[in-house]
Amino acid sequence: MLTKSVLALVFLILTGVQVHANGSDLQQIADALDVSRTRTFQFTATGKMFAVGQSTSPMAAWPRYYVKSLTRAYDFTAGAMRDEMVRMQGETPPSGGGGQPVEGDQRVVNAVHGDHAWNEAGKQMVPRFWDAPERAHQIVTSPHGLLRAAFANNAVVGKKSVEGRQMTVISFADRKQRVIAYANDENAIEKIESWYGHPVVGDMKVVTYYGPYRDFAGVKFPAKIIQYQDGHPSLDLTLTAVRANPSVDMQVPENVRTNPTPVKTEKVADGVWYITGGSHHSVLIEMKDYLVVVEEPQGDQRSMAVIAEVKKLVPNKPIKYLVNSHHHFDHSGGVRAYAAEGATIVTHELNRPYYERAAANSWNYGPDRLAKAKKKPVFETMGDNMVLTDGTRSVELYQIVGNTHHDGLIMAFLRKEKVLIEADAYTPGAAAPKTPNPFSVNLEANVRRLRIDVDRILPLHGRIVPYGELLNAIGKKPAAKK
Ligand SMILES: [Zn+2]
Repeated sequence: MLTKSVLALVFLILTGVQVHANGSDLQQIADALDVSRTRTFQFTATGKMFAVGQSTSPMAAWPRYYVKSLTRAYDFTAGAMRDEMVRMQGETPPSGGGGQPVEGDQRVVNAVHGDHAWNEAGKQMVPRFWDAPERAHQIVTSPHGLLRAAFANNAVVGKKSVEGRQMTVISFADRKQRVIAYANDENAIEKIESWYGHPVVGDMKVVTYYGPYRDFAGVKFPAKIIQYQDGHPSLDLTLTAVRANPSVDMQVPENVRTNPTPVKTEKVADGVWYITGGSHHSVLIEMKDYLVVVEEPQGDQRSMAVIAEVKKLVPNKPIKYLVNSHHHFDHSGGVRAYAAEGATIVTHELNRPYYERAAANSWNYGPDRLAKAKKKPVFETMGDNMVLTDGTRSVELYQIVGNTHHDGLIMAFLRKEKVLIEADAYTPGAAAPKTPNPFSVNLEANVRRLRIDVDRILPLHGRIVPYGELLNAIGKKPAAKK
């Protein structure tokens, strides 16, 4: 840790910060927030939240939701946080991912505790381990969490003139993040620049603004929180109430703790397996001399579990191609794991520069297998279509043209088996949505455009369904069976 402190010190001196070894400034800022006596904390807010990693194209802004109410609760001693919110569709028409389109008011509960992250969906606790770095970073960049982490990491504290105002600059790093915070002469944190290790992009830049500070029934806290991730808005909240030391319960659910990446396999046809078990699926296709895997969700952890299953199903053939449907973070989190495995990444040409930018980024805070191996990913990209063939079997890949879920969304079709593999354009639900999902309407239009004869859909969320279920879901009667 000494080295990190020295580096932080050098950084501050180079950026014009006058460093003084006195920790009393840090203590004064902490005392203004009553950090030493605040073990848990919560605020309620309204405003906007944005789905980071779910944009319509790799460099576009994150899609927005309207937040009717958000209660964010922290347990600082446990390193835990829980968001409970009611949100509404924010993009018209629906564009991008993150569960769009949202019908009416939707209750969403997200949590993190240490390295474990999950979403509550009714009684189901859905593991979201790949979201843990981002959510844990939200704790460290909260005003109380920041001060606690600053003390724990022997932060370097100095003074700097910023636009004519004398600011206190607090800088520290640990193995998961680097943080530079600015406090004003009233001992209030106004701005934080930080980086955390993200499974798709590497070191992710975050900028958080706090203020103006208000007295919430005796507790001084910012009335606004505005945050950017990778240059695009990620939070825009107006606080309505805060509470120090509420009682909270953020125990890690049993299944999240013991089995965050369950793997199940279903044989679909000769040489075709549907690999499920979690919230996101993959499909294995056996070719004469090699294997094709369609989709690599979530991150290294999920990909290693799926790759182990692939090796069990077909022991003696290499994974030559990994087909990535689109760049949304929950679907592309394993691109780098398969690249480390030696597979060529097949994706739409729109997605490639984003993965190459990630490969050129720094991976100081949470390096993955590829970063540790110092290997470069290898790509084969497509426009409208592409065919992977070995002379016996062909995997036809098509762009789902004009789909506002994502501009570079691709699907796979196995002509002999009449099987269509797709992500996010159609996810079978318990019942058809009241309003047809525009992404699904567009998928069906693409199937007609391409004149492909689909018997079954293998969605990368949900379950295998006959093609008629898609027609039913968009308000078209199932076609009569030939
Ligand atoms: Zn998506």
